[in-house]
Amino acid sequence: MSASIEIANVTKRYGTLTVLDDISLSISPSEFVVFLGPSGCGKSTLLRMIAGLEDVTEGMISVGGQRVDTLPPGKRGVAMVFQSYALYPHMTVHENMSFGLENIGVAKKEIEKRIRLAAETLEIAHLLDRKPQKLSGGQRQRAAIGRAIVKEPKAFLFDEPLSNLDAALRGRTRLELAQLHARLGSTMIFVTHDQVEAMTLADRIVVMHNRKIEQIGTPMEIYHHPATRFVAGFVGSPA
Ligand code: ADP
Ligand code: MG
Repeated sequence: MSASIEIANVTKRYGTLTVLDDISLSISPSEFVVFLGPSGCGKSTLLRMIAGLEDVTEGMISVGGQRVDTLPPGKRGVAMVFQSYALYPHMTVHENMSFGLENIGVAKKEIEKRIRLAAETLEIAHLLDRKPQKLSGGQRQRAAIGRAIVKEPKAFLFDEPLSNLDAALRGRTRLELAQLHARLGSTMIFVTHDQVEAMTLADRIVVMHNRKIEQIGTPMEIYHHPATRFVAGFVGSPA
């Protein structure tokens, strides 16, 4: 399942502070889009507005052609995976995965089927009875992705999901995310400040800076034809 995502003239203000200024962006079904930019440029805020965790101050957001910016998070057809995983510590992996589905009335049998499938895909079937504190960082990461997969979203939203992992695991997980995208065919938005992650994962990169989009393009376009001095400096030179 996948859906287009349309962001139309979206502005976000906290009081008098404007953190995103008139952002417009069209994402195609099944596209893997990376929001890339330095810390504080508004990547998480934009993602959280798509997820419904933040209100839009001005503008519109649509998923699959349906306007969602006034809908509650659970009704938008998107699922978010957080940097800190945000697993419920007192619940097992299985309970973490089933909890959200029970809440929206998915039948028990269907829940079990989805969990089995997701656990197989992520190779965490043997971890379902464990609580998060008994998992490694990489295993927590998988559990968090599993919790998103069982919602069968049309789009996955990842907020710096690799930044708590060590370098070796980060590389492996990056590869697995690319495989997951190929297998599920879902639309994916991935937020990072890491140029290498962006270059290796993205169909298209959205470079953000100072409340604005600086450039949208394929990794090759961004790398070889930076539209601004900022993009050239940020993508061209190592962090
Ligand atoms: P990024 O994810 O790119 O690091 P964020 O989206 O987290 O950036 O933040 C963008 C800007 O919005 C920052 O200047 C941050 O301080 C500000 N900001 C984020 N959340 C709030 C909030 N709840 N209240 C006020 N300012 C916020
Ligand atoms: Mg952030």
